[in-house]
Amino acid sequence: MAMSPEDENPVKAFGWAARDSSGHLSPFKFSRRATGEKDVTFKVLYCGICHSDLHNVKNEWGITSYPIVPGHEIVGVVTEVGTKVTKFKVGDKVGVGCMVGSCHSCANCKEDLENYCPEMILTYGVKYYDGTTTYGGYSDIMISDEHFVIKIPNNLPLDGGAPLLCAGITVYSPLKYYGLDKVGMHLGVVGLGGLGHMAVKFAKAMGLKVTVISTSPNKKKEAMDHLGADAFLVSRNTEEMELAVGTMDGIIDTVSAVHALLPLIGLLKTNGKLVMVGAPEKPLELLAFPLLMGRKMVGGSGIGGMKETQEMIDFAAKHNIVADIEVIPMDYVNTAMERLLKADVKYRFVIDIANSLKPF
Ligand SMILES: [Zn+2]
Ligand SMILES: [Zn+2]
Repeated sequence: MAMSPEDENPVKAFGWAARDSSGHLSPFKFSRRATGEKDVTFKVLYCGICHSDLHNVKNEWGITSYPIVPGHEIVGVVTEVGTKVTKFKVGDKVGVGCMVGSCHSCANCKEDLENYCPEMILTYGVKYYDGTTTYGGYSDIMISDEHFVIKIPNNLPLDGGAPLLCAGITVYSPLKYYGLDKVGMHLGVVGLGGLGHMAVKFAKAMGLKVTVISTSPNKKKEAMDHLGADAFLVSRNTEEMELAVGTMDGIIDTVSAVHALLPLIGLLKTNGKLVMVGAPEKPLELLAFPLLMGRKMVGGSGIGGMKETQEMIDFAAKHNIVADIEVIPMDYVNTAMERLLKADVKYRFVIDIANSLKPF
């Protein structure tokens, strides 16, 4: 018989879990493994709420096994390290993002692309090597192999820094890989949510000209005055779109609803790149001819490897980049999920775990 989550491992833990596809989260007792020789254990201080947490607690991707403790934008302070840990010590500020394991021997792993390892182990909701379930950051403590732990520089605020571990790296990695990181380049950012607002901040820090592309003009003032975008394009305004044709070196497309790609491809210069980081559920229409005429490319990107994630965090600390957040107490999480569903947040909820997660 399978052991209960409370008895599976020696270290007592508690957090909030969803028990069924209602997605409703409530207090949950479970356990974590003892600190192994390569492990870092830390007290969780903050955890961001990612849109994929919402999909997972409601089993919208059909892969959820309950109970599930979500959360993969986790930051805190190290409380214990294993005997063979070299990078961390007790008291260090650290973070864990979307993954806690990979094979370390495949072609992807050898290139620091653990995120594309076929055996990558997600931070929550899957089986770890020892057969126990991985639980995420909506919990009091976290443990991970040091390879998957990120060092958080002292000057980076932990609350606003937490969302960098998923939302930040998701947009930073494609900017680097697709070469859209050169001073003076013109970047379009489609959608101004958790991912989009991070893309604007990173691209601006890299010295790019940034145009936010949105379906409605509502966010124009916010995008330009607050986030520092250089221009704003309303995708429904054909005149505005017409004027911007052929002006962009690249576009980061964060939209996860079905939308038209053709007008976006039209905005690209010759050799321009349209990079998808959102994941619409249904296929999008892609005509080849507009790609041929201008040698344009449509690509994708998913989070980033550990080396690059550390590089991203260090870059963020250097340039004072954090996510715009609304800090919430643990018991607000179900309301936060409802609001997230309606995109009613600027731009990321972050749970104040240390001050509001109460043992029961
Ligand atoms: Zn995420
Ligand atoms: Zn691998």
